[in-house]
Amino acid sequence: MSPVSLDNKKASYDDIAERVRNCKACPLHRLRTNAVPGEGNLSAKIMLVGEAPGKNEDEQGRPFVGAAGQLLSSLLEQAGLRRQDVYITNVVKCRPPNNRTPTEDEVAACIGFLKEEISLVRPKVIVALGNTAGSALMSLAGKQWRGVTAERGRKVKVSIGGVELTVIPTYHPAAALYKPDLKDYLAKDIKEAAEEAEEPARARKTLLDFMGG
Ligand code: SF4
Repeated sequence: MSPVSLDNKKASYDDIAERVRNCKACPLHRLRTNAVPGEGNLSAKIMLVGEAPGKNEDEQGRPFVGAAGQLLSSLLEQAGLRRQDVYITNVVKCRPPNNRTPTEDEVAACIGFLKEEISLVRPKVIVALGNTAGSALMSLAGKQWRGVTAERGRKVKVSIGGVELTVIPTYHPAAALYKPDLKDYLAKDIKEAAEEAEEPARARKTLLDFMGG
């Protein structure tokens, strides 16, 4: 990618992040310390989407910086990925009181930012962390959602904001902190996402091997 297009991406990202920080489109803005825009590699092949900021994220204005974020970072490492390789964001950018699930109205008010982030980053794979993320992404894609227990681990081909990509629904890392048996599923799904993101490169390599290249 040329430096110019990277500059353009950075400018577009800064614009989205600034609008998130100033947004008052739903009542959650009254309770926040900081709004929490997504962050990471603007050309990432993998995007991770959570539900909403928690206490630590609200205090620091950054996504996934608490205990759930630490678990996520270690699972990324296990899959051969670094935080700086991926883009991480949430469906809702301001913390709901007591970390309650965002309401449908709050998701509807905020979802445009996620759509803009997807159009900007153009990931090949999105890991949907938890029920709210899975439901919101399937709604953007015009697909049905049957809940995270039924959908987890599937690879769903979708088009969102003009971007063709695969969504892999899985559990939220916060859920895995409370129920450690979910951690293996989460680790497996993140590894699956890493492999899916490299799929054409692997296919090309196999073809070259076959041709003796
Ligand atoms: S949650 Fe989203 S829509 Fe609501 S105020 Fe924050 S940024 Fe705006």
